[in-house]
Amino acid sequence: MALVNEHFLKLPNNYLFADIAKKVNAFKVSHPHADVISLGIGDVTQPLCPAVIEAMHKAVDEMGSSDTFRGYGPEQGYAFLREAIVKNDYLPRGIHLDPNEIFVNDGAKSDTGNIQELVRWDNSIGVTDPIYPVYIDSNVMIGRAGVVQDGKWSNVVYMPCTAENNFTPQIPDKRVDIIYLCYPNNPTGTVISKEELRKWVNYALKNDTLIFYDAAYEAYIQDPSIPHSIYEIKGARKVAIEFRSYSKTAGFTGVRCGYTVVPKELTASTIQGERIPLNHLWNRRQCTKFNGTSYISQKAAEATYSAAGKEQVKEVISYYMTNAKIMYDTLTSLGIEVYGGQNAPYLWVKTPDGSGSWRFFEQMLYNAHVVCTPGVGFGPSGEGYIRLTAFGDRNNCEEAMERLHKWLK
Ligand SMILES: *Cc1c(COP(=O)(O)O)cnc(C)c1O
Repeated sequence: MALVNEHFLKLPNNYLFADIAKKVNAFKVSHPHADVISLGIGDVTQPLCPAVIEAMHKAVDEMGSSDTFRGYGPEQGYAFLREAIVKNDYLPRGIHLDPNEIFVNDGAKSDTGNIQELVRWDNSIGVTDPIYPVYIDSNVMIGRAGVVQDGKWSNVVYMPCTAENNFTPQIPDKRVDIIYLCYPNNPTGTVISKEELRKWVNYALKNDTLIFYDAAYEAYIQDPSIPHSIYEIKGARKVAIEFRSYSKTAGFTGVRCGYTVVPKELTASTIQGERIPLNHLWNRRQCTKFNGTSYISQKAAEATYSAAGKEQVKEVISYYMTNAKIMYDTLTSLGIEVYGGQNAPYLWVKTPDGSGSWRFFEQMLYNAHVVCTPGVGFGPSGEGYIRLTAFGDRNNCEEAMERLHKWLK
């Protein structure tokens, strides 16, 4: 008899976006002529930039010729891309990485979910709340999260991020083995200052804590004082793994490419106290379970670092950030409390008169035909908020704001 991994059965049945789709479909059935605009799901809408398309075409042609064809590439990613990452994403910030500390992947979701394989099942984990669901669910699947009670997992330390604490998570008053941080944050769109991030690195150094740092949205940072990488903080290489992705940076949600940084100094302990470098362990894991990101995707990623690529990528980000500003200005002019949207493509909106997330979601859908994401779907501290994304196209964004204005004024 094959026994199932019963930890999977503990997961809530429905994925948040499936619940939303169900409600939107029910609305569409009863309102067949309504033009519904989605400011819900976190996917980009603008096409890949010309520099990327050109590189992909070229890569495809290479694959079609016997002297330039490529089969399996290195599991860790091609040297051309890892070197471009070191040179363009880190060196300008004074961070010196070795290409062997970079692991190219098929997007950050895979690695943010897989990374927990490197640590024992009985480590404690801490997450900011609300949170990107992958961090917790991947721990649930191997039994590290415990059982769910009142929307919280028994073995997870939740660090609430709300307007009351200015979305700055409190450092836990006890030891936690592993901390997940995501900045700029999905879903709240808020950022962390160098001073606050330094507190986390120092906490990790002092408590022998491992930090998983998701920087998928770093390209959206506008304020020059905000850190783009956790390695801008002294000592972070000893305690942190960083995740990056071309998905939100350059519209690669359908192309698939990202990377993980595992510094050579980073170690974790065996139960006997021997320090094990996680770079070796992750390399071993990848070589067994991953056969590399496609050459075409990696050439596409490399093209984002050319002079033209950088310029074009910046333009698209500025397009989305203009959407964010339009949304921010409209909502604040209506007297609504809005957070995020300044250094991230997400706006975290307090529901007016304290209604619940799902209730406000339905009101917005039925009154304005606009889809948002209920904040509570990202964790208990998300109750009373909704998330709007700036990833729509301009016309939709403006039309949605006009409707919200008409409805809420
Ligand atoms: C979108 C997103 C990612 C990136 O996902 P990909 O798999 O690279 O497309 C990673 N982390 C967060 C928090 C995200 O929102």
